[in-house]
Amino acid sequence: MHDDRTLVESRLKRVLDERIRPAVYPESVPLEVGIWTAPGEPVPVAEGLAAPRAPIAVGDAWGAPWGTSWITVTGTVPEAWAGRTVEALIDLGFDANMPGFQCEGLVYRPDGTPVKGLNPQNQWVRIAAPAAGGEQVLLHVEAAANPVILDYHPFLPTELGDKETAGDRPQYKLARMDLAVFDETVWQLVLDLEVLGELMAELPVEGARRWQLLRAIERALDAIDLQDVNGTAAQARSELAGVLAAPAVPSAHRISAIGHAHIDSAWLWPLRETVRKVARTTANMTALLEDEPDFLYTMSQAQQFAWIKEHRPEVYARVRKAVAEGRFVPAGGMWVESDTNMPSSEAMARQFVHGKRFFLDEFGVENQEAWLPDTFGFTGGLPQIIRNAGSKWLLTQKISWSQVNRFPHHTFLWEGIDGTRIFTHFPPVDTYNCSMKGSEIAHAARNFKDKGVARHSLAPTGWGDGGGGTTREMVGKAARMNDLEGSATVRWEKPAEFFAKAEAEYPNPPVWVGELYLELHRATLTSQAKTKQGNRRSENLLREAELWCSTATLRNGAAYPYEQLDRIWKTVLLHQFHDILPGSSIAWVHREAEATYAALAGELEELIGAAQQALAGEASGGRELVFNAAPHPRSSVPAGGAASVAVAGPVCEAVERPEGGFTLRNGLLEVVVDAEGLIASVVEVASGRETVAPGSRANLLQLHPDFPNMWDAWDVDQFYRNTVTDLTGVDAITADRAADRASVRIARSFGSSTVVQTLTLRAGEQRVDIDTEVDWHETEKFLKAAFPLDVHTERYAAETQFGHLYRPTHTNTSWDAAKFEACNHRFVHLDEPGWGVALVTASTYGHDVTRTVRDHDGGTTTTVRFSLLRAPRFPDPKTDQGLHRFRHALVPGAAIGDAVREGYRIGLPERRVTGTAERVAPLVAVDDDALVVSAVKLADDRSGDLIVRVYEAGGGRATGRLTTSFPLAGAVPCDLLERPWDGTRGEVTVADGAVRLALRPFELVTLRLSATV
Ligand SMILES: [Zn+2]
Repeated sequence: MHDDRTLVESRLKRVLDERIRPAVYPESVPLEVGIWTAPGEPVPVAEGLAAPRAPIAVGDAWGAPWGTSWITVTGTVPEAWAGRTVEALIDLGFDANMPGFQCEGLVYRPDGTPVKGLNPQNQWVRIAAPAAGGEQVLLHVEAAANPVILDYHPFLPTELGDKETAGDRPQYKLARMDLAVFDETVWQLVLDLEVLGELMAELPVEGARRWQLLRAIERALDAIDLQDVNGTAAQARSELAGVLAAPAVPSAHRISAIGHAHIDSAWLWPLRETVRKVARTTANMTALLEDEPDFLYTMSQAQQFAWIKEHRPEVYARVRKAVAEGRFVPAGGMWVESDTNMPSSEAMARQFVHGKRFFLDEFGVENQEAWLPDTFGFTGGLPQIIRNAGSKWLLTQKISWSQVNRFPHHTFLWEGIDGTRIFTHFPPVDTYNCSMKGSEIAHAARNFKDKGVARHSLAPTGWGDGGGGTTREMVGKAARMNDLEGSATVRWEKPAEFFAKAEAEYPNPPVWVGELYLELHRATLTSQAKTKQGNRRSENLLREAELWCSTATLRNGAAYPYEQLDRIWKTVLLHQFHDILPGSSIAWVHREAEATYAALAGELEELIGAAQQALAGEASGGRELVFNAAPHPRSSVPAGGAASVAVAGPVCEAVERPEGGFTLRNGLLEVVVDAEGLIASVVEVASGRETVAPGSRANLLQLHPDFPNMWDAWDVDQFYRNTVTDLTGVDAITADRAADRASVRIARSFGSSTVVQTLTLRAGEQRVDIDTEVDWHETEKFLKAAFPLDVHTERYAAETQFGHLYRPTHTNTSWDAAKFEACNHRFVHLDEPGWGVALVTASTYGHDVTRTVRDHDGGTTTTVRFSLLRAPRFPDPKTDQGLHRFRHALVPGAAIGDAVREGYRIGLPERRVTGTAERVAPLVAVDDDALVVSAVKLADDRSGDLIVRVYEAGGGRATGRLTTSFPLAGAVPCDLLERPWDGTRGEVTVADGAVRLALRPFELVTLRLSATV
């Protein structure tokens, strides 16, 4: 037989495009359109509905950036359409090539009931089926003119990302505004041909099935009268029925599809717009669930449910009903799909506490899966947190974005730093916006790396971010692939159903140990420094507020601010969303975040101040108390308590050196700051050990050009290191000495920026404090602070949640080399047996560690560099411009326990309060420094019980006693949600009024302590 394959394939494409798809709506009449544009921010629905309309025509421009217009369409269904299906087609000026990221609408009936969303690939509104004829149509559309930020020339700087700079040029032109007849038979034919045509393209040319499909398609095309598609569509469909009925082969890959819309809680739009995006998409999805009995939809992020509840109660009522029916499925159990690299131990725990509790309270649902399709890497601390939250599975898709190395598994056990293993799935469809294209389904089956031993994968299906979620076309295509020869099978299944099947079929999956590092978006550890500082400051203040308010409540009977802390926590958790904390949102989002963090800090400072004053007694008492919120004692003040402190003796000195610069001494360290203001030497007096590598100087600021190939705020590409400028020019260098400290102040200028650094030694502290103030006005530059250390080691430790993890200092493998920028929380630690050094940081997360071997003595220099600032121009063209303050410290002679202690210290300054009390005894005390208290708070159930979370911080085993300053009645191990839990692997026993703890490396334990009354 002659090979006419490409001829038939080309014929299919043209006939579908030019004849069959247009015939879905064979007849139409125009609607009358009126518009009212809200003068500023969005208005309440009633106001929008009532506002007077001005006429507007198709082709007219509307929509200043970020504006909201209320559009009314009216019309009459022609009598001739009686008995047919009629829809309104409302095209706000969509670019259908982009599923979201542009204008959107929410359709209301005249009484204010929301109907569904309008999105680029979802422009229809069902009017009647069958229509009576003569019916009046009146619909209102709340249309949001969200500007396109990331378009066909991506990553170009734009001022559109903030309403303050976006201008008022209309962004869209009204396109089709019609009433039309919907021909369902033609619509079904389109789906038949798409499914079979797309499947055909994926099948081997040598295989019979491909040719069988080709011949069936050819017969269907022959059956169509191109002048009467609507009259012949049924005949064409009957030609395809046979090939559509052929069942899948028994070994076919099995895809669990779940309706989904990945809606970023803020990104290229502000938070307030996400509230509306979620409402539109959810209105679409509850409507689709009513139309399609097999369809299931899932939505993560408790915050997004809470927004609908607050702002669109009518939509929320539909959500609640669909959740109760088991068809709208809350996914995951977090407040938002947060970043996981940067949130602190407690914040990461609270993401699950607040997410799971919301689903439990609202729906009685507790999920077993963590749902983080898009998050930029996963820390080694996360598995234990997931397990302690009462979950056991993880889904993410993001690691498929890694630039260099292909992850070897799609389904596996992920083992964290403490040994907890979590059953994890990476959907091999490689997208969280599956649209049921044949190419996607075939890719999932081909790509699945666990073939032969496993056969299930998951496909999150639908358009996110303003795309409106799953479309009826996707549902129609999934139905055809339910059991179709040549295709993977597709079934709508809940995430839990998928995980149960996947786990059951794969009893011994492969294991991946340690972090799931994303080899991309590494600069999200640095971009938008003020957002990151706001987060870290809030986390620290929340620790203090919970500690001191608990203490004041149990000691003095002060009211515990349950509601206020709950609200503040949820705000902090929201801002850990994976485009806010990482710094990858538009200027508007980060400008608002800075203001929000400032307001939270004000509230928390007030709570802390009031609680401490209650504990210290009347200020008129005149006795100064030092409060210590850190988990370790500090200059005779117990951890979690307060005491008066004698001022240390004047042992610090700053001596000018004849060759320029200064020598600082405090009896513990001798620090040489040279004439260029760089640290030439740091000697630990007790051991005589030099910290700085010979021939190098520490605290060297280095400036790199930083223009990644794409994703400016997200990415730093490896070639940035090829060019570097050392900032050694000095404007001024001065020394200063007080009774308890000695410091050197260095001022520099470079480019359009200035920097002032203060290096300080304090009495009794084996630590160099480094305060940096940068007035930053650079463009596309990366600022690092380098510490070349005389340490020979193959690995270094970086703090993460509830412990630390090790990364290599070398680049032996492509996996090691790809980690050229990584995350730490409060410390990085390096050591040789017997001697180590820690670098601690108050608010930065990005860093890199490299090694060189010196020519002159053959020794190894290990250089740690903290990442301070970047200056990308997309999506915020003025990222990080302005004044910034950082605090770091260098701690020579530090063991890992010292690194932990100094890490807490740098974020939790001593607070001095004047009162009458001599001391404030801590509520709880632990007698082993490796057992670190990460939270002291009152139980969320308001029982008055005290919740104390403790973890082993050294990476070894620790045994100790936890004692209380109140009569202890009982101690119950709990999960993160403060429910009794028997999953603790270590020992927790109560004896003699104290709790004996024996914890394994990095193990965390949550205790509910009750007092004897
Ligand atoms: Zn995302």
